[in-house]
Amino acid sequence: MSAFNNALKQISRAAEIAGIQEETVELLRHPMREVKVNLPLIRDDESLLMIEGYRVQHNDWRGPFKGGIRYHQAVDLDEVRALATWMSVKTAVAGIPMGGGKGGVTVNPKELSEAEIERLTRSWTKAMRGVIGPEIDVPAPDVNTSPREMAWIADEFGHPAVVTGKPIEAGGSEGRSTATAMGGYYVLNALTETLLDAPIKTVVIQGFGNAGRMFAEICAKNGLKVLAVSDSRGAIMQADGLDIAAVGIHKDATGLVQDFECAENISNQQLLALECDLLVPAALENVLTVENARDVKAKMILELANGPTTPEADDIFFDRGIHVVPDVLANSGGVTVSYFEWDQNMKEERWSAKDVDEKLQDLMQKAADAVYERSEKYGVDLRKAAFVLALERLHEAKK
Ligand code: NAD
Repeated sequence: MSAFNNALKQISRAAEIAGIQEETVELLRHPMREVKVNLPLIRDDESLLMIEGYRVQHNDWRGPFKGGIRYHQAVDLDEVRALATWMSVKTAVAGIPMGGGKGGVTVNPKELSEAEIERLTRSWTKAMRGVIGPEIDVPAPDVNTSPREMAWIADEFGHPAVVTGKPIEAGGSEGRSTATAMGGYYVLNALTETLLDAPIKTVVIQGFGNAGRMFAEICAKNGLKVLAVSDSRGAIMQADGLDIAAVGIHKDATGLVQDFECAENISNQQLLALECDLLVPAALENVLTVENARDVKAKMILELANGPTTPEADDIFFDRGIHVVPDVLANSGGVTVSYFEWDQNMKEERWSAKDVDEKLQDLMQKAADAVYERSEKYGVDLRKAAFVLALERLHEAKK
């Protein structure tokens, strides 16, 4: 099933549970605006390459559209639509005054030079003038984009508040680079005591980028054992726990997590089926499906990636008593600190790392409590509860 259909199914299920007004649901089934652009990229050898770019603005009842930009060869309109829809849900769950949007460029940036990526990013920004803006739609990093790309966008557009996730020197916020992982860790702490009999000791992480690597570092710092990590080329495992700092150095030096001297190479599919307390998908969507959900041995799944679990896999996990902390809650720390960054830029303020962290922890605790409360009230899993919470808040905003 397509990612967007998954998102629609999740909305329908939640609307039915909480009896949300049909008109609200029908409006949320349709993104407000979808923009597709064809970007001409002059390559370093002066040849011309045409590349497709997108921005989908799903909903702005609660505030300006907000959501990352992804550079990936598999990006298409369906995927960007799904990601934009999840952003409207996520900003509502996090309780921040922003809406949902997402951008994408269909390209494998690993095949481009840095200068080509810069020209492409500036070209996307020019093409989106009038579409994005500090009070209209505020992009941020996603897969294969980083503070570097955000700084180029802010420079090209001419206002720091047009994007978040910028380097500190270009108007970024303290705590933004760690926010997604840190928020996930706060959500995890808020829920584990209520949901699990024993504390989490062992963790397996799929994806070793912004979200996954930082989460691995936070786990290691807090005494949890990270048994395995992976990237797009493969996975590694070490039953006694990986030395995450050393894996990071190895990854920076070689570009891979595999072939790390103190660990065994395994496949990405093997990683998902490892015995552990917590499984953290932190790569791409549709990773946990009807094909492999029965192989998962974790007690809990924390979705740092967007859309890693299909609705069918969700049902299997629910039946098997495996708790899934859904993306719209688990990774909402990123957009929450993005909102803090935007707020600081708009007010020309600079908050300390301590202030940002305290505000993040407070909002994550409140979001986790509100989701848990709905899961108890309706006797449903945390994803349905999070969607119920979001639909309630979106319906209020619409009124
Ligand atoms: P990233 O590009 O920094 O990292 C992605 C990682 O996943 C890389 O290590 C890559 O090698 C790995 N990967 C790709 N395909 C894989 C595969 N098939 N198997 C295993 N690993 C694979 O991206 P990111 O920013 O860390 O984002 C990861 C996920 O988290 C995405 O779903 C994104 O939407 C979500 N997310 C990120 C943020 C953020 O602040 N970075 C916020 C919210 C959600």
